[in-house]
Amino acid sequence: MTERIYNFSAGPGALPLPVLEEAQRNLVSLPGVGMSVLEISHRSKTFDKIIEGAEAKIRKLLNLSDDFHVLFLQGGASLQFSMIPMNLLSKGGKADYINTGAWSKAAIKEAKKVGQINVAASTESENFVRIPKQEELKLDAEATYVHTTSNNTIFGTEWHYDPEVTVPLVCDASSDILSRPIDMSRYAMIYAGAQKNMGPAGVTMVIMRKDLVKEPPADMPTMLAYKTHVDTKSMYNTPPVFSIYIVDLVCQWILDLGGLEAMQKLNQEKAKVLYDAIDATEFYRGHAHTDSRSLMNVTFRLPSEELENLFVKQSTAAGLDGLKGHRSVGGLRASIYNAFPKAGVEALVEFMKEFERKNG
Ligand SMILES: *Cc1c(COP(=O)(O)O)cnc(C)c1O
Repeated sequence: MTERIYNFSAGPGALPLPVLEEAQRNLVSLPGVGMSVLEISHRSKTFDKIIEGAEAKIRKLLNLSDDFHVLFLQGGASLQFSMIPMNLLSKGGKADYINTGAWSKAAIKEAKKVGQINVAASTESENFVRIPKQEELKLDAEATYVHTTSNNTIFGTEWHYDPEVTVPLVCDASSDILSRPIDMSRYAMIYAGAQKNMGPAGVTMVIMRKDLVKEPPADMPTMLAYKTHVDTKSMYNTPPVFSIYIVDLVCQWILDLGGLEAMQKLNQEKAKVLYDAIDATEFYRGHAHTDSRSLMNVTFRLPSEELENLFVKQSTAAGLDGLKGHRSVGGLRASIYNAFPKAGVEALVEFMKEFERKNG
């Protein structure tokens, strides 16, 4: 096999090697089926087993009660930015959004096309270095729901508490889904594009409480109504068969590791190695406030942009790929999702020490 480098990409992100190997082994012919998963009908028994298996594993991992639907949709998390207000808000209805980064802003922009949106808290004036505290949330008593973004992929911050709200809580968990246990009794809906932490691009997981699914207005496009996808078990049209197959394998991989508690422990260990290295010297400076630090996306700066550019160039040459930060933060970003190996974090820390020794 060709050698694999360390992939720090923010998305699509690294997938577990055992999952890629299993998919490779079975690509030409699924055992007992004689066809590739890329070729099978989504109406076949084989695919029924795959999609039902993926749902069952997600239910097990998140300890989901029967109060929730699990849907596999398309259009990315970005389409959810529109579907959520279109389905949950009545005409002229209100919702609270908490602005913690670029993806929150994108969600707010779409929701404003549908309803009256109150930005209940924002850390934009601080370039999103932190998650607001509970006492900073100015919630609207008339809001239909509250929307949060659990992990801010670009800025490297993550919620470390579940906000206290009295209406349904809706969360974009695209970049930290399945990285830690979630108390689903606190949430009415979570959704995630699969391509960061649970699979390849092409499928979006939506978990929503059954009472949120309503009869859509007559002028709602069929594909945009949650009811359509609930009624057809995510098979109104052709679902992304291969992406769902990989999601199933990724969920099995997490179950084999010991579930979300074990996954969280691994993620905490990996992130600690990197944050400890950042905190050890003045040369590296973390972007996020300590209490808001993400375990998934670690953002940091160097003393100058010249050094940052040199760092990216030399780290890429050393097989540490995808470390250039997003332009709105600058500097470096190491995305260390579930599937990213601890050895890769250790290799980065070694590189950082050596780079500082030469350039510090
Ligand atoms: C990547 C990302 C998105 C956008 O996801 P798409 O599936 O590409 O639409 C939305 N929210 C968060 C938090 C993300 O990290």
